[in-house]
Amino acid sequence: MSKTYEIITVPHPALKQEAHTISKVDDTIRGQMDRMIQTMYDAPGIGLAANQVDILNRVLVMDLSKRAERGYEDGKEEEDGKPFFMANPEIIYESEEMSVMEEGCLSIPKQYADIERSAIVRVKYLDYNNKEAEMEASGLLSHCVQHEIDHLNGVLFIDYLSTLKRNMIIKKVDKLKKHDLM
Ligand SMILES: [Zn+2]
Repeated sequence: MSKTYEIITVPHPALKQEAHTISKVDDTIRGQMDRMIQTMYDAPGIGLAANQVDILNRVLVMDLSKRAERGYEDGKEEEDGKPFFMANPEIIYESEEMSVMEEGCLSIPKQYADIERSAIVRVKYLDYNNKEAEMEASGLLSHCVQHEIDHLNGVLFIDYLSTLKRNMIIKKVDKLKKHDLM
């Protein structure tokens, strides 16, 4: 079996579907998590939700560490950088204070837009060992976890843009695909 998945891109229907809650993190889900994070590292990316590999369960992975090594040039190194494996993530707190950051998405290659989200969120989830866990996120990690949880609800960052802008981006991705530039 391959160690990675293929990442699907817009307008694949799985990106618009809601993923279902899993009953527990068992060896099958752990295998999926391992394969997902390898897929994310290879891309390279900092977050990946199951919908993006055409699996409709509520599983996501993130890793904001070693960013420079992985081709990110924003000079940011998250101090608490480590891989996150989350099942059934749920936002239990979101700050009223907002934050705007440029976001991109492995399923919408080479397209970016400024997106406004809560600056700080707290998330409850099941970890790699099926233990209940909580994390508080700010900055890039906050944008990332909200972006990935959106995926599990069938929501993409371009859904926050105007219809005109959204359609333009989808057309551009289509062109990239046609000319094999992804
Ligand atoms: Zn994404």
